[in-house]
Amino acid sequence: MKRSVCIVFICVFLILPIVSACGVSRPETAEATPVPTEAFPADDTIQTVTVPTPDDTPALPTVPPTPTPTPEPTEIPVTDPIITLIGGDSIRVEADFGFSDPGYFADDYLGNNLTSRMTVSGEVIPYKVGTYDIVYSVTDDGGRSTTVVRHVEVVPVEMPEIVMPPEKTVYLTFDDGPSTYTEKLLDVLKKHNAKATFFIIGNRGRTEIIKRAYEEGHAIGVHTYTHEYKDIYKNEQAFFDDFWATQEVIKEATGSYTRIFRFPGGSANTASRRNKGIMTRLTKIMEDLGYRYFDWNISSGDASGEPYTSTDVKNRVINGIKKHSDFAIVLQHDIHYQSVKAVDSILTWGEQNGYTFLALDLTSPIMHSEVQN
Ligand code: ZN
Repeated sequence: MKRSVCIVFICVFLILPIVSACGVSRPETAEATPVPTEAFPADDTIQTVTVPTPDDTPALPTVPPTPTPTPEPTEIPVTDPIITLIGGDSIRVEADFGFSDPGYFADDYLGNNLTSRMTVSGEVIPYKVGTYDIVYSVTDDGGRSTTVVRHVEVVPVEMPEIVMPPEKTVYLTFDDGPSTYTEKLLDVLKKHNAKATFFIIGNRGRTEIIKRAYEEGHAIGVHTYTHEYKDIYKNEQAFFDDFWATQEVIKEATGSYTRIFRFPGGSANTASRRNKGIMTRLTKIMEDLGYRYFDWNISSGDASGEPYTSTDVKNRVINGIKKHSDFAIVLQHDIHYQSVKAVDSILTWGEQNGYTFLALDLTSPIMHSEVQN
């Protein structure tokens, strides 16, 4: 009996406190750890209420949830390459010394740029009025090809209207300068308040004289750079090269290019005959390009090769002017002393007889000789 009491004692006073201290099997009560209300969000509560139980009769018909559309993979249609012509498939350009394509590009159906593999064929002669076709082609990696055509219409440059001057208008023109006599000539023109036109040779230098003539109100036109007929009239390109070399000299002297010129030898020259028909072609081309050439209806005879005096020049010019009461375009050369010397007396006579001496421009009356080649 003594032993049993002892075991009970051990159980009550030793084992139970140890178990309690370890906290292993002691159940927690609701009072001990209350569930905070914040643990249930408002949304969850509402959701719980609206979910029907099997016993519930729903007050409203159930709306089936809208299915989220699943995007189908996009099918890119396979097409031939697409060529885009900047400026369109039909363009109109004014005649010019060069043609610059407005641009183009190509893509395949996936949007890859194929421009670098495009081929372009066809020629535009930019100074020749007409219609030209340029053909653009491209092939993609799949061997699909596209070809498009651009029509290029080259039209003449629009020219200003010609204005007929009052009667007794004289245009003195001087070719082949500037020379050592040209400054003296400018002094004489200034004294008479007369204007003239200088068709210059580019390789003469003396740009300061061209500048002075321009600044004093005279017209500057292209004549030639070399005056070598066999070179200038060899072909169209040779003529253009000579023309532009002269233009550059004029621009250097005056600050701008000119649009008036005189063909070396005039448009009726026969020095160009070794190239059959070139004057027929050039006279049209240059006008289409917006340049106006002037021949003359009075020759002073100062380049005939025959001996003459300044009085001879004066008489020929004055007699010619008298015959052309509408307008007179006089040919002289300021490289000939006797010819330059005659100008003072020609102007004096002109003043006494009511003539006006003007410089040529794009609105001046045209004097064109009959082309011989
Ligand atoms: Zn000449």
